[in-house]
Amino acid sequence: MDMTQTNLQMIKEKMTFVPLDQLNKLCIVGPVKLPIKQGNFEATFNWYCWTKVSTQWTKEQVVDHLNTMNLAFGQQSSVLVYGDFEKTEDALVRMHSICHTGDIFGSQRCDCGYQLHESMKMIVDHGAGAIFYVADHEGRGIGLFSKSMAYLLQQEGLDTVEANHALGFEDDIRSYEEPLKVLEQLRKKPVTLITNNPKKLAALEQHGLSTHGHVPLWGGETDTNHRYLETKREKSGHIR
Ligand SMILES: [Zn+2]
Repeated sequence: MDMTQTNLQMIKEKMTFVPLDQLNKLCIVGPVKLPIKQGNFEATFNWYCWTKVSTQWTKEQVVDHLNTMNLAFGQQSSVLVYGDFEKTEDALVRMHSICHTGDIFGSQRCDCGYQLHESMKMIVDHGAGAIFYVADHEGRGIGLFSKSMAYLLQQEGLDTVEANHALGFEDDIRSYEEPLKVLEQLRKKPVTLITNNPKKLAALEQHGLSTHGHVPLWGGETDTNHRYLETKREKSGHIR
């Protein structure tokens, strides 16, 4: 480690451990100030990032291991927090699954990019909230490489669910255990979930998310993602 004691102390103060299972705990780092600008939209969020580490490790050991953990070869999740998230009575929360094609490329085959940016605006307008950007959720958990094959099948006429099944995957294999543990750390009061999927709300409530219900988020529908959204409504329980 090549760092002054003062800097090490500052970083340690920004690290929080959260128990996960017998072998691992979560190490959350933050808040880090993140000024964001997207078109006309500008706001400063507090960014937190987390990864799994051994239950044995101290904060100093986490810092010591950074250059051998190969963190660039896996994904890490984030949460962008806005306003007085801990104490405000009503806060909006979005659990956003990573979508490389939609969020980064701006692909119109899904509405993820639209939903990500729109939920950030909703949270700022509301005054307080958090967007969880959940790693390892690409293509409902099948990964980017498999997603390219699923898209090829979709070009041949299969819908999202059929394509994932054809490749040997369940429809939806996403886990919310880690983001929910992080949420518990950041806020104890109930939240309002931004989602069009009542099943997702129910699933998260079963995992211990305490809610005031949900608010929907539509509007990103285009000619190219129309079929994808129809499938979400017909097969995955999403409401209009
Ligand atoms: Zn997407």
